[in-house]
Formats: sequence, structure tokens, C-alpha cells
Amino acid sequence: MAEIWIKGVDAITLNAAGQVLRGVDMLIEGGRITRLGEVPPGTQADEVIDGRGKVALPGFFNAHSHVPMTFERGWAEDLPFPRWLNEKIWVAESALTPDDVYWGAALAACEMIRSGTVGFNDHYFYMDRVAEVVQQSGMKAQLAWCVFGIGAEKEVGPGLDGTLDFITQWQGAADGRIHTCLGPHSPYVCPPEFLERIAEIAAGRGLAVHLHVAESQEQVDNSLARHGQTPVQQLAALGIFDGRAIAAHALAISDEDRALLAEKGVFVARTPNTYMKLAMPVNHVTDLQAAGVRVALGSDGPASNATLDMFQIMRQQVLLEKYLRLDPESLPGDTPLRMACRVGAQALGFSDSGALVEGAPADLILLDFDRPHLRPRHDLIANVVHTAVGADVTHVLVDGRLLMRDRVLLTLDEERILHEAEQRAFRMVNQDMRQMREYRA
Ligand SMILES: [Zn+2]
Repeated sequence: MAEIWIKGVDAITLNAAGQVLRGVDMLIEGGRITRLGEVPPGTQADEVIDGRGKVALPGFFNAHSHVPMTFERGWAEDLPFPRWLNEKIWVAESALTPDDVYWGAALAACEMIRSGTVGFNDHYFYMDRVAEVVQQSGMKAQLAWCVFGIGAEKEVGPGLDGTLDFITQWQGAADGRIHTCLGPHSPYVCPPEFLERIAEIAAGRGLAVHLHVAESQEQVDNSLARHGQTPVQQLAALGIFDGRAIAAHALAISDEDRALLAEKGVFVARTPNTYMKLAMPVNHVTDLQAAGVRVALGSDGPASNATLDMFQIMRQQVLLEKYLRLDPESLPGDTPLRMACRVGAQALGFSDSGALVEGAPADLILLDFDRPHLRPRHDLIANVVHTAVGADVTHVLVDGRLLMRDRVLLTLDEERILHEAEQRAFRMVNQDMRQMREYRA
């Protein structure tokens, strides 16, 4: 007997042919999609979901995030990047506790599930506490404990050795839903010897590396002055790109850098909302793709991108690229969905996910299309890319387990999380407690 039978649903498959199927049935057994199309006569299931008026889609994989930063949402607004970082973010984070990280990540998990994200690639501190949230929520994640390599007193947490203990403890945990990897902050913070050591450990233990790369021309100029190499060249020479690597941003890169990223098979994660909100110069994402680089999409931290809703992030990327290129044919059809689902899943090491095909893990979402902004249904992909919002998501499944049914979260105590996370967030940034009472009233 099947566990779940979704009846009469329209499906955006993101399979090799890019098929969109209308009014099909889907069976889920053993955490996987076992049937997509017609089901055999006599089929029975523990749970039947009426898919009429709904669209099934692979769930999103957020390829670059610092999700506990939900605490700083709306608290560091309208500032240039150096002031945003030095006067706000570092100050707030100096008071960060492991419990804050837990509740900040729990708040993020509620938001991510509600808006159709099934997996996220997090890069932050006290990641054992984020791992707890992943375990409880039923989501998938690849977790990197950020390390700087510039002295034990500057690390947030136990430094590299503690990170390795974290990796040993959590790699493959939660029935394989948790992946861990190494998270040196960036080549502009971490010394080369430290990065070289990270590359050796990654190679020795078969770990991925997730870091920030070439966010500005200033970083590139400094790298050239200091090392005689661009950040991409330097990281390649140090061996950081020899295994699976996720380079967040890559905004200031040369043609040679692009070719090197492609040759090394590096995933680039782009976070368009951050670039626009912090007014950062960007290069063309389609140039990366044309060079053969696999580009995924992410949110970055909610202090710079106030939303974790991947529908918004995907749409911002499409509009930004079309506009910058002055080319309405940029990122056409299901390309942005593939970036947000399939490439993201691959970047996180969940390479079977990101498509609705028989045999794939049932990591999928259902959208309510009985909504005015999603009619008429000429082109389901266009409606999802250009019109859908996170609040349209009704059901979320990860490995065939329902995390949300009819917009009700099943694995997390949302009411308690909203309350606790906000209280802690106010405390962290020293907000007036009277203001907090106002919100409560
Ligand atoms: Zn980041």
C-alpha cells in the first residue's frame, strides 16, 4: 500500500524534457515517487490528497543562507555595506548565544517550509543547534560551521577542531537528511595556510566546502595585490575547488575565473535580493551559465535579504538578469526553477532531488492554483516563476513525509517559535522591552 496518493494534480516535473503534466496521479512509497501518471487499478494509500486545482513542483533548495540571522530582520536597514556589517551585524552577533541560534533557525524553518523550501545550505555558528532544528523539522540541509582561521579568540565557537567534531557527530544524521561540510568564511578573511589546511581536510574526509567568493572588485584588487592572484585563482591553487565546492556570489570575476569555476565544477550560489538591497554591483549570471558553471539560488542571511521565500528570490534573479541584459529572453522558461530546485539540490549533495520523476525522493510541494493571481493557466511555469508566492504553498513533503498539510505545520510548534524567537531577537539587539510588550498586546 502506498503511503500517499496525490490525485489529479498538474505537475511541473523539471525532468530532462521539461515536461508539464496535467491531471496526473502520483504515488509515494518508501519516501520516493514510485508512480507519476496513471496508477494501477486497485491502488490504495494511507493518505489521499486531492490534487485538483493544485500544482506539484519539486521543493526549493536554498543554496546559500545564514538562517539564524532571522533575528536581524528589519534591524539593519538602508545602510551601505560596511556600516551595515560593522555597526549592526557584528554588534548584534557579538551577543549571540547557541540558544539564539536554535530559535532563529527554528523561526527560519517555519518560514522556509511555509514557502516551499525543502533544503538549505547554511553557513553560520553553533551549527549543532541548527542541526537540531533540521532534525526536528524534517527538512534537509547542508551545514557548515563558519571558521575564520585568524586566532582562537576570533572564532565564534570552538574553531576548526570543534567544527570537525560537529561534522563527525552530524554527518548523515536524521536519516541522511543532514549533510555537513567545511565553511571557511572567505579568502579575504581566512589566511592562505588555513585555506590549504581546509582543502586537505576536505580531500581526506570527502567533504564539500562552502564559502564566500569575490563579492566585490575591492576584494579582487586586494587579492591581486597581496597574492598576485584573483580570489578564484587563489582558491583553485590552494585546492579548495578540488571536491564539491559552493562559492557564494562570485560577483567580481574575469573570463578566466569563469572558465576555472566551470573546469573545477564549482557551484555558484547567487542571492539577488542581497545585491539589490545592499546596492552591490553584479555581473551577468547568464555569462556564468554560458561558461558552463552550475548556478544555484539562495537567500543569504535575513539581515540583508529580509525574506527566505524562494519564489521571490527566483523572481528577483530573473528580473534582474533580464533588466541588466536588456534582454527579455534571458533565463527563459523553467531555467530559474531548475536553478532554485535542481541545481540547488546538487550543490547540497542531494543529487537525486529537484525533479518529479519516478524513483526520485519525494521532496515536493503543492501550490494552490485556485487563486486569482494564478489564473488563467496558459503556462504553469510562467505563473510559478512570475506570479506565485510562498503563501500559495499548501503541502510540503520531504522524503515522502508531510511537513505541512493544508498550510498547517506538522513538525514544529510555530506559535511557540514565533514568540520565543522574537523575544530573543529583541533582547539580542537591546530593543526597549516596552516596545516588545506593545507587539504582544
Ligand atoms: Zn553570505
